[in-house]
Amino acid sequence: MSEMESLFGRAMGGWAEVSARYGQLADAPRASLTVEGYSFKVVLNPTRSVSTLAKVDARSIASRPCFLCPANQPAEQEALRWQGYKIQVNPFPIFSTRHFTISSLRHEPQQLAPHFADMVALARQLPGYVVFYNGAGAGASAPDHLHFQAGPAAELPLCRSEWWIAGERHSLEVGTMPGDDAALAALTGIIAEAERQCPINVISWADEQGGVEVHLFRRRCHRPSCYGAEPGHLLVSPGSIDLAGLVTVIRPADFAALTAQPALLAGIVAEVTR
Ligand SMILES: [Zn+2]
Repeated sequence: MSEMESLFGRAMGGWAEVSARYGQLADAPRASLTVEGYSFKVVLNPTRSVSTLAKVDARSIASRPCFLCPANQPAEQEALRWQGYKIQVNPFPIFSTRHFTISSLRHEPQQLAPHFADMVALARQLPGYVVFYNGAGAGASAPDHLHFQAGPAAELPLCRSEWWIAGERHSLEVGTMPGDDAALAALTGIIAEAERQCPINVISWADEQGGVEVHLFRRRCHRPSCYGAEPGHLLVSPGSIDLAGLVTVIRPADFAALTAQPALLAGIVAEVTR
């Protein structure tokens, strides 16, 4: 959608603190590593501490102003309308070139199955992007407000690999239309069942044939047992994008530890996914 490119351009031109964050992220230290044969990237991105350190217990969520509701957003944060959602520039980027949040116009809980057709439709309308979902207890820092995110597919190792270290791949063929297709209904059923059993992360993107690829991670836990600020621990709080091979850390010590020992990452992925 070209409107999204314009929205992003306006934010970079007129929203100084956010354009500075994108600039810092473009210049941030990053390393490529191989984790059990799969390509991963680790990026040192301290501004993501807002998510990595987020308190996500029910009481903390209920007592903080929702950052996806318009009343709590800064005047600079413009929005585009898309169906029952608004598309906005994510002010705390994981992707240095563009990162969007697509949130419901209503303050309603993060739940995927009833809205999965919307996610697929959006992925189809945004070739070159991944549209992703972090469920409650699976990396979402706003589990109380339905939202997706989108970023460039080229930055995600998962999208360039037919096989992946964890999770399961589903393909929706060309011509699958929301609302009237058996394949979409079947996959929605799989998502609903997974979501009843555990927290989930889902990543979707349009493939070159016009279909949509969907990668589902079923979670065992929100954060690994090594999570923590004390010595010997790591501040790593994996969501969709970390599991897809673009890992964000917020402290130089964690960046050094993971790049020196890729096995740590393999352990984290194995621990938080089923
Ligand atoms: Zn809200």
